[in-house]
Amino acid sequence: MSDICGMKYDEYVKLVTDFHGTVAPGLIIGGYMVDMAYKKLPKGGLYDVVCESVKCLPDAVQLLTPCTIGNGWLKIEKIGRFAITFYDKYTGEGIRLYLDNEKLKDYPPVQEWFFRTKPKHDQDSEALLRSIKEAGSSIISVQKVLVEIKKDNKEKHTIASVCPVCGESYPFREGKDMCKVCSGEIKYYSKI
Ligand SMILES: [Zn+2]
Repeated sequence: MSDICGMKYDEYVKLVTDFHGTVAPGLIIGGYMVDMAYKKLPKGGLYDVVCESVKCLPDAVQLLTPCTIGNGWLKIEKIGRFAITFYDKYTGEGIRLYLDNEKLKDYPPVQEWFFRTKPKHDQDSEALLRSIKEAGSSIISVQKVLVEIKKDNKEKHTIASVCPVCGESYPFREGKDMCKVCSGEIKYYSKI
């Protein structure tokens, strides 16, 4: 049985439960993905990460790597594919790890969970976790990728302006004289 980033399976499950609240199957598979990434990547590099799903994978990355949403080394592309890309933050060269449908055929509980072919309450969660542990990294495939580095993102120095409508500070944008909420570009709450 393979370890997850130097941890025994049970140790990792405990870490996941403490952090995430439950033993999410996706977080266990995500752990195997991160473990595999570190085994494949040259040692000592500085890597940024992209998760292609909002669910589970970002938590696996934040638990097992120095990359977090907060420090900007982890980004999420809302594609909904179960994949993580690690890339050199200067050259963009990296690897993409994804859950391989072909390889899932040998692990029916994992396949049922992944394709949601059974309602959640009909799934046997014990059998699923056993199957995930048994599969380890054998259900993950790797491809080499080159990530486009957007230089101006990191180098741009943004000054803050005060929004004339709400009176709060926001990053100044050329041609925009108010914040994104007051301009109506983003609306995630209503005042009550
Ligand atoms: Zn405003």
